[in-house]
Amino acid sequence: MKKQLYPFAFILIAFIILYSCSAEEEDTTPPPSIIQTPEPEPPASTQYTLTVTAGEGGTVSSEGGTYDEGTELTITVTANQGYIFDGWEGSNSPEKSLTISLNSNISLIANFRTMNTTDINNDLSVFNYDIYEDYTEQIVDFYPNAFFTSDLSDKVVNGINLALKTAADEFGKYGPVEYWVFGTDKQAALELINKFCERREYLNQWNLSDCLREQTDETLDYSMIAYQKIGEYVILNNEPQGGAGHNGGFQWGIHQLSSSYPFSFDNLFEGIPPQDDFKTVLHEYFHVYQLSSVYNLEDEVRDSKIKPDGGIWMIEGGAEYMANYTLFKLINNGTLDFDQSYGSLREKMRNKMNNGKIVKEENCPTSKLNEFTYQFCTQAGYELGSWGVAYLANKVNNQNILLDTFYPNLKELGFEAAFNLAFGYSSKEFYEEFDAFLELPIEQQLEIIPDI
Ligand SMILES: [Zn+2]
Repeated sequence: MKKQLYPFAFILIAFIILYSCSAEEEDTTPPPSIIQTPEPEPPASTQYTLTVTAGEGGTVSSEGGTYDEGTELTITVTANQGYIFDGWEGSNSPEKSLTISLNSNISLIANFRTMNTTDINNDLSVFNYDIYEDYTEQIVDFYPNAFFTSDLSDKVVNGINLALKTAADEFGKYGPVEYWVFGTDKQAALELINKFCERREYLNQWNLSDCLREQTDETLDYSMIAYQKIGEYVILNNEPQGGAGHNGGFQWGIHQLSSSYPFSFDNLFEGIPPQDDFKTVLHEYFHVYQLSSVYNLEDEVRDSKIKPDGGIWMIEGGAEYMANYTLFKLINNGTLDFDQSYGSLREKMRNKMNNGKIVKEENCPTSKLNEFTYQFCTQAGYELGSWGVAYLANKVNNQNILLDTFYPNLKELGFEAAFNLAFGYSSKEFYEEFDAFLELPIEQQLEIIPDI
């Protein structure tokens, strides 16, 4: 059931065998001068038998038969729903499509294993998806992967798993998703980074040493070790701080996310209950959903659709509002149950309006919603961006408008036309309207927020 990561050993052995075989053949080949012209009468050709069978969980394109020596045959396997192809018995090839040249009787069995479709996968030696399949931009039937450093508690592991599963159920399963969670211990982080890099190398995505060099570089903002450093800081300074992000993975056909120590699951600070990190997972997973709509585009084209002119209000405000809205919706309808209270959606949005206005007043008083970027007035992009999305959802009376209309049409239509389709007017008209909305008293603004 488990796929072990021993690529080096395998490649090395295969190479040695191939090399020694071909060397032997060369030695025994007679010099061409003594080869006689073949007799005109052809000898009866030798025939061999190929037998192909499929184990439980899939089918093969051919069951084989009897063929002349040297015949080339290609067999393809198809896994049934809920199964993953798990290699050949009778061949070392990992490929689903196998071409063989018949020089002896051959018997092949295609093996399959069941796909885990009910849980988040935490086992680093297991792939819960078919590694030869391109799943980008697809709705899939398996849950995300979450991998943890060894110093994290069961509370953290269970909390992240439940949050990820909830997010996938609410926003849709897109994959493969790898969510890498770091604790505070450096050695434990280095061990997990090593596992990450082994996984990349096994899948032929990245050379192990290049991967390790980059991911353990403490001077890089988005290296994996940087996430461990944040957690270490929290403990050393007894000061709450966190970081999580969608770090790409486009080139590998996966969503790669990383998180610093999600300390609220351990109740480390009074007044910051587990809902806080639960919300962060929902936020990050909403990025998975947003990016899945434009995953296969070139970087610049993708950016132009997802954050036109660098404006982050829709991508960050959308993730932040949908994360908060979804969390309170699920608490309110009894799906989620937490020990401590976490206020209400209106209370969260009240804080966001206050913070957003303070940041805007100080740094960018005349800027409109679309002008906030990752370099300029960023915090206003998050706080007021979430209000921008709340405003639009209320305007069309549909809290799921981003999931129902905007993102499903974004790739084909582009930002502006998808915006028009979803909200019934131009983004420019909206930015003007929203500026006026920001001037209203807070109690009046809060009327557009659902009472949850
Ligand atoms: Zn974000």
